[in-house]
Amino acid sequence: MHVTYWCEMAWLPPGEVVESVAVAIEGSRIGDVRPGVPPPPGAERLAGLTLPGLANCHSHAFHRALRGHTQTGRGDFWSWRERMYAVAETLDPDRYLALATATYAEMALAGITAVAEFHYLHHGPGGTPYADPNAMGEALVEAARRAGLRIALLDTCYLTGGIGDALAGPQVRFGDGDAERWAARADALARAHEGARDVEIGAAIHSVRAVPPEQMHVVVDFAHRHTGPLHAHVSEQRAENEACVEAYAATPVQVLHDHGALGPRSTAVHATHLSDVDVALLGGSTSHVCMCPTTERDLADGVGPARRLLDAGSPVTLGSDSQAVIDLFEEARAVELDERLVTGERGHWPAADLLHAATAAGQASLGFPDAGCLVPGAWADLVSVRLDSVRTAGATRASAVASVIFAATAADVHSVVSGGRRVVTDGRHVLGDAGALLREALAPLIP
Ligand SMILES: [Zn+2]
Repeated sequence: MHVTYWCEMAWLPPGEVVESVAVAIEGSRIGDVRPGVPPPPGAERLAGLTLPGLANCHSHAFHRALRGHTQTGRGDFWSWRERMYAVAETLDPDRYLALATATYAEMALAGITAVAEFHYLHHGPGGTPYADPNAMGEALVEAARRAGLRIALLDTCYLTGGIGDALAGPQVRFGDGDAERWAARADALARAHEGARDVEIGAAIHSVRAVPPEQMHVVVDFAHRHTGPLHAHVSEQRAENEACVEAYAATPVQVLHDHGALGPRSTAVHATHLSDVDVALLGGSTSHVCMCPTTERDLADGVGPARRLLDAGSPVTLGSDSQAVIDLFEEARAVELDERLVTGERGHWPAADLLHAATAAGQASLGFPDAGCLVPGAWADLVSVRLDSVRTAGATRASAVASVIFAATAADVHSVVSGGRRVVTDGRHVLGDAGALLREALAPLIP
């Protein structure tokens, strides 16, 4: 199928806003990009600034049920986690399909064309596997397809409740017993999606709390065997660092490094409380680092050294994580604005660097290196942002990227083409009223 779009402005490599750009699409790929041309006959016009697809590099879809219900009262990450576990207990594959479809539709409306789902809710109540032991993972893959997103399904190994502790309560639904049994189940999921271009089955080490170091190599091997991404929660909390140093005389980053879990295929999620050695190990191994600032501030985690990590060699990516909000423009600007608060200085991150984090760097970290860039042959993802809303009015060609990164919200995304498929038109998702889908899916889950 051939469709041509004509963009008032488009962000083209090597990072320039260009006017009057015709983008021809052939199937799921970009066929041709022609800047500075009048609208070709029959072309669909895209107003405002058109960007490549945004990548949401850290998602727990079911946390969407917590929004608004856990933002009040005192507490910390650990008390929030109890509320999160209560929601996890109510989910089954059907409810998860409905919730994830609606949540991913919300992501599509925000310009996200690929999501990394850090998936650990594997089994039924009491830890009993479903008839299909991958029923929950399959629900997530199906949800992404319905909503029009590519998915990196990061099958997460989660074996212990804390260092040396057995899984307890709702955590028993996360566990497979040991890493070998985890790998056998995850291998079956990967085989089921072999050859699918819109699905990457990757792996995750939940954290140093949840996977004993001597079993990490099994998860690492899985990622390499399937050439899939490998993600891990890293140093989100000081208590996690302290417990890790006490048990292993090493920080979480050092433990991952010592067990082969760092490298260009890897992503360290959060990377909030790092030592100088940690920064050097992550950067030196060119591991990606996924910052989730709206979650990190919601959970009072802290602010990670994003710019130092980038300078050390780690591509930085962005994730909505707990879904406190789903808005990658907000995540992007928070990376810069949080560093301003910590350092007392402005200007760590040019807007174009933040946009690169939200697009090409993120897509590559999910196993879609041929996305996130408007060039022939790339995935046909076109995300168009209004430049005439109350937030963005006044933007010029020169200021368009800064206007979008520092002032736009997800609500300014008016059109999304994902893998050649038009999933958002005039701010409306192809599945219909995404708000209604969310209300319906959330009603039985509200904590
Ligand atoms: Zn997470």
